[in-house]
Amino acid sequence: MISDNLKSVTQRIVSSCEKIGRSEKDITLVCVTKEASIAEIEEVLRLGVTDIGENRTRDALLKYRAIGDRVKWHLVGHLQTNKAKDAVRIFSLIHSVDSERLVGQIDKESKKINKVQDVLIQVNISREESKFGTSPENVLEFLKAISLYPNIKIRGFMTIAPEAENPEIVRQCFRELRELKDELNSVLPGLPSTKAGAGKTQYSILSMGMTSDFEVAIEEGSNMVRIGRAIFSG
Ligand SMILES: *Cc1c(COP(=O)(O)O)cnc(C)c1O
Repeated sequence: MISDNLKSVTQRIVSSCEKIGRSEKDITLVCVTKEASIAEIEEVLRLGVTDIGENRTRDALLKYRAIGDRVKWHLVGHLQTNKAKDAVRIFSLIHSVDSERLVGQIDKESKKINKVQDVLIQVNISREESKFGTSPENVLEFLKAISLYPNIKIRGFMTIAPEAENPEIVRQCFRELRELKDELNSVLPGLPSTKAGAGKTQYSILSMGMTSDFEVAIEEGSNMVRIGRAIFSG
């Protein structure tokens, strides 16, 4: 039952927040609908979900045509440069930016529709070859390179933890991204893109945590969890 599942996920988010003294209001639940039908998406919307995540632009486009702008659309999966044109028309937040070529394309397509596209940098904290994302060592250089594109706004960072049996490995991965975000926020005043908001924290979003690890992610500072199976399976 989707409604029971959603209630249970929400309760687990609340408990994780209580455990570390945070407010659940700080956490955005992105309901990942890649396995869900239009009817199931309609159901979660009725239950109060405000943010929907898809991992492919082409699938999102079909669902977007049926659902429209009643929700915020998130691209959580990899984006190919040739899909940037569709992506900027649909998504409020693109979680998976990891190359300057892609940034250039998103910037160009956003400009055409007079939009400043919010994006997250995907960081491959676990350094698994199978994963997309920029390496942690390269993030600062990457940010410097892309901070001059006017139609892109970098809001924070996203990572996917390894499927490790040892939960401490997963925890370490989330902790590293949070530390990286804090570090980058402290060195940022030197970057051109922060001139407008001098002194303010620019990178605020940490998108981390899925069905198998969202509680650990919240404990380690996540403020955006991407959850599919726990809501739509079983
Ligand atoms: C599918 C997916 C999710 C959701 O995963 P679940 O295990 O179903 O909760 C989150 N993030 C990304 C990038 C995904 O592709």
